[in-house]
Amino acid sequence: MPELPEIEVSRLGISPHINNQRIQQIVVRQPKLRWPVSKQLSSLSDVHIVGVSRRAKYLLLETESGTIVIHLGMSGSLRVLEQGIEHGKHDHVDLLLSNGKLLRYNDPRRFGCWLWIPAGESLAILDNLGPEPLSDIFAADYVTPLAARRRIPVKQFIMDNKIVVGVGNIYANESLFNAKINPLRPANSLSYPDWEELVLQIKLVLNRAILQGGTTLNDFEQPDGKPGYFAQELQVYGKAGDACPDCGAQIQQQMIGQRNTFWCDMCQPKEEV
Ligand SMILES: [Zn+2]
Repeated sequence: MPELPEIEVSRLGISPHINNQRIQQIVVRQPKLRWPVSKQLSSLSDVHIVGVSRRAKYLLLETESGTIVIHLGMSGSLRVLEQGIEHGKHDHVDLLLSNGKLLRYNDPRRFGCWLWIPAGESLAILDNLGPEPLSDIFAADYVTPLAARRRIPVKQFIMDNKIVVGVGNIYANESLFNAKINPLRPANSLSYPDWEELVLQIKLVLNRAILQGGTTLNDFEQPDGKPGYFAQELQVYGKAGDACPDCGAQIQQQMIGQRNTFWCDMCQPKEEV
C-alpha cells in the first residue's frame, strides 16, 4: 500500500510533466473506485493546472476552477506517457494534457479515488486532518499536551490522522525503534524529551524514505511497472524473530490496534528508565 513517502515521490515524479499544462480532457473508463469518480471531471476541458501539492496521502491538482483530489488507495499508481499509448486492463483514468502527454491512473483493486472540489469549497475528507508530519507545527510542543490524557499505546496515538497525518504502520514501527520507545507505552507516559526524540525520528524516517524513492523518479515515464513503489531499508518492521540490528536480542511481534507491531525489548524497554 502506498504510504506518505510513496505519495510524495509520486508528486515529485508527475509534477514536472503536468504542472502549468492545460487539461484537454479527462477520460474515465471505470468510475467505480472507492467512491464514484466525480462526474464533473469528464466535462473538464481547457483548464490550467497551477499547482501539484499533497495533503496527507491525497494528491491535489490545483486549477483555476477547482481541485482534482487523487488517492492511490491500496494499489493505485500514476504514470506520465505520450498520448496514443494503448491502455491496459486496470488503467481507469487518463488525464490528457496540452503538451501531448497524459497522466494515466492504474489501480487493480480500485480502492483509490478521483474527486473534484470546485474553487471555494472544501472536501469533508480533508477537513479535521492533523498537521503534516514534516511541517514545523508537528513538534513536541504540539503533541505533548494532546497526549497528556491519552492512555492508548503510543504507536496507535501517532498513527491517528487527527493527531498527525501520514505516519503509516511501517514508519510508526521504525521511528519508535529509532527513538528507543516501546510501542505499547501509554501515550501519556512519554516525557517532553521522549516526544522531542520521537517527533525527530518520525521526520527522519519519512525523509529517508522520500530520498530513497527519489532514485525511482524515471519510472514515472515507463509504460509498465508501479512507479511510486520502492524497497526500503527497514530495521524492525517485518523482522519478528530476527536479531535486533543494535543489540542482537530477538525482535518481538504483537498486534496493536489490529496493526502488526515489531520492537526490541532490550532497546525499547516497557517502563521508563
Ligand atoms: Zn535491541
